[in-house]
Amino acid sequence: MATNLEIIPIKEWLDYKEHPLVISGPCSAENEEQVINTAKQLAQIHNVKVYRAGLWKPRTRPNYFEGVGSKGLVWLQRVKEETNLKVAVEVAKPSHIEKCLAHGIDILWIGARTVVNPFSVQEIAEALKGVDIPVMVKNPINPDLTLWMGALERVNKSGIKKLVAVHRGFYSLNQSMYRNPPMWEIPIELKRLVPNIPIIVDPSHICGNKELLLDISQKAMDLEMDGLMIESHIKPWAALSDAKQQIEPKNLKLLLGKIVIREMRGTKEFENKLTSYRNQIDEIDDELLDILGRRLKIVDEIGQYKNEHKITILQLKRWSYIIEDRLKKGLKHNLDRDFLQKLLELMHAESLRIQTEIMNKTPEN
Ligand code: PEP
Ligand code: MN
Repeated sequence: MATNLEIIPIKEWLDYKEHPLVISGPCSAENEEQVINTAKQLAQIHNVKVYRAGLWKPRTRPNYFEGVGSKGLVWLQRVKEETNLKVAVEVAKPSHIEKCLAHGIDILWIGARTVVNPFSVQEIAEALKGVDIPVMVKNPINPDLTLWMGALERVNKSGIKKLVAVHRGFYSLNQSMYRNPPMWEIPIELKRLVPNIPIIVDPSHICGNKELLLDISQKAMDLEMDGLMIESHIKPWAALSDAKQQIEPKNLKLLLGKIVIREMRGTKEFENKLTSYRNQIDEIDDELLDILGRRLKIVDEIGQYKNEHKITILQLKRWSYIIEDRLKKGLKHNLDRDFLQKLLELMHAESLRIQTEIMNKTPEN
């Protein structure tokens, strides 16, 4: 369900002109030298305006590096004094917020593991009441848009209007080349339901490695996302957390140089042509829906007929024939095999559902 959040656009609270806005810094602050040196190198990159560093790290198992905690706050104060960067820290409980506020941290973010828990988010939201600070809300680990929206709403209800969503990919059971597959349809749906929410994409946690960072960053720009959060470290190979996905500041600069920013709007001629294409798609979709409706009506009739004659719903031979025949024909129309297979399975599942309903309603004994 669409929701109206009261949001102040990033440009009104952060001084930057370059697109995309880039937030960068190490996964974790490890020591003063690493924090300061990484920040100094990042400050040389035009697009980087915000320095991120985790101080309290949510780790899956105990006995891993859990962050340096509060002592990193003074290192970040030094970053502020010695560069033009704003500093951002992940907070997971009210005491973190208190400490960040006491040390002049500019921006807070709520991590993916915290956003899954409405109790934690509510506690954080309460602690933010009356505070004027930008807050970034990462998506929850599981692909649940409602949970993400819920967290944004809770924080917004506490009076935080400088609000940003961060897309960091989602957990999936399926094998994937990504650590957290991007499932772009979810942030796109978020944009549709909350049109004024800025979305920053975090390619580092989506990819889990350096190799795929450029592709995901490019895709984020092509989908008109508002910025990027990319982890960087002066010695990524020696990082205490997320070593595989962090890059050196000089490589971040190279990566940003390779991103192509395409125009969001084209010339009048381009717009006209696009409108004509879209009209064609609208007409074809109308036809598709009409055809689907007709197909399912026949499925319904078959269901009644099978029921009257006490014949089972699933006729394997017929289903095998349909799959084989439609795949063959579809491939001739240049349709992708996987897409076709999924479409056929979806239609078949719907046919089974309709026929089962008929059998359940009017069992012919
Ligand atoms: C992080 O940004 O370092 C982090 C822990 O990210 P996430 O909450 O997205 O896993
Ligand atoms: Mn990390």
